[in-house]
Amino acid sequence: MFRTLLTAAAVSALLTGTAFAQDAKTASALRDKALRDYTAWDITEDLTTSIGPRLVGSPAMERAKDWGVAKFKALGFTNIKVEEFAKPSWTRGEESAELVAPYPMKLGIVGLGRTVPTAPEGVEAEVALFKTFADMVAAPEGALKGKIVVITQPMVRTQEGTGYGVAGISRRAGPTEAAKRGAVGVLIRSISTSDSTVPHTGVTAFGDTVATIPSAAIGVPEAEQLERLAAKGPLRIKLKLASTVDANDVAWNISGEIKGSEKPDEVIVIGGHLDSWDVGTGALDDATGIAITTAAAKLIGDLPKHPKRTIRVVMWGSEESGGSSEAYLEAHKAEVPKIVLAGESDSGADRIFALKLPAGAGAHPLMQTAAGVLAPLKIYVDREPSTHGGADISGLESAGVPSISLEQDASRYFDYHHTADDTLNKVRPDELAQNVAAWASFLYLVADSDIDFRALKAAAPAATH
Ligand SMILES: [Zn+2]
Repeated sequence: MFRTLLTAAAVSALLTGTAFAQDAKTASALRDKALRDYTAWDITEDLTTSIGPRLVGSPAMERAKDWGVAKFKALGFTNIKVEEFAKPSWTRGEESAELVAPYPMKLGIVGLGRTVPTAPEGVEAEVALFKTFADMVAAPEGALKGKIVVITQPMVRTQEGTGYGVAGISRRAGPTEAAKRGAVGVLIRSISTSDSTVPHTGVTAFGDTVATIPSAAIGVPEAEQLERLAAKGPLRIKLKLASTVDANDVAWNISGEIKGSEKPDEVIVIGGHLDSWDVGTGALDDATGIAITTAAAKLIGDLPKHPKRTIRVVMWGSEESGGSSEAYLEAHKAEVPKIVLAGESDSGADRIFALKLPAGAGAHPLMQTAAGVLAPLKIYVDREPSTHGGADISGLESAGVPSISLEQDASRYFDYHHTADDTLNKVRPDELAQNVAAWASFLYLVADSDIDFRALKAAAPAATH
């Protein structure tokens, strides 16, 4: 009698509940072990201390490549690969800027990543200051000709880090748009949430086909000072930037695996990026991403039996000025149908607060199990699907690979991002461990399952918003 009252759906839920009970137990044990594990801290400490800043094309980046291979070996990874790709390098030289009029004042600057240099004697010009990028673009014809453009658009602090994309347009497109209008140099207010004078670098548009001008960032208080001064009268600034480019350089994507026990050709691809800017030691960006994903996979590798599917950790070799995502897709095109899921950790090391799943996956019993395992870590499953899991997996995503996003609290991240202050002392060991716990437990569940995210997406009703 009782049996007949159960609907087919309820029976199936009960059955899958039982089927996932053992996996939930293993995932919870991994989670709890990770919270007391120092592997991620040790990796972060070693990469930032032994190697230091890791600019693409630098001798340090070559040492980082060897470091990555040695680290994978030491931690028990197999099928370790170094995949080389062409990547022109850029090296920073001497940089300086000063306010010349109405009074002399040194400005603390950092050249934007891949900026073109000034002439050796520098460039001095009157300032055209704009409070937003849009104001500059809307300036009347001729208003920028022969000027040094200053853009002081601020960045908004949010938990999701969404202020970055909005304010970042000054850096990404400011120099090219100012160049089109005849300007001779650009200074931007750092894309930053801090109140520090320490300026933030980051890539700007570059390349043989890009018409651009020398560009640098200044600290927030100096940007505000220039803004107030400009309201009172004309300003003059002198800017000097040096740099060199090597068009024939290379970079590497490095990977290691925890081989699956039953379906080793089905692969989950995760990782962080090994390269960093040349200021600071790239602790939050992105030594911790390397550390979190490597430590999570290592914990799973230490289990008495590996999960069914293979977990591959990739240390992507050129995120900051691009290249590793495209190179990775190119090298793994044939394998794409077998890549069941991809994810990247690249927003620092503060606690994860949400998980975004591939579209259509939220109601699957295994994902409900995952939600239960993650809940004690104070992580909820977001109803919005993951669309951009990380810059280095965007190539895979465009080829149809489903992705997840374990969303880190970015409230503090953009205080230090791309600065000389991106150093180990900004990493909080307990929050770093919470990241590892989330990745390890979630990855285990997916790796030891048959879940097919592509099929779930195809079966999902189309979004109504
Ligand atoms: Zn990064």
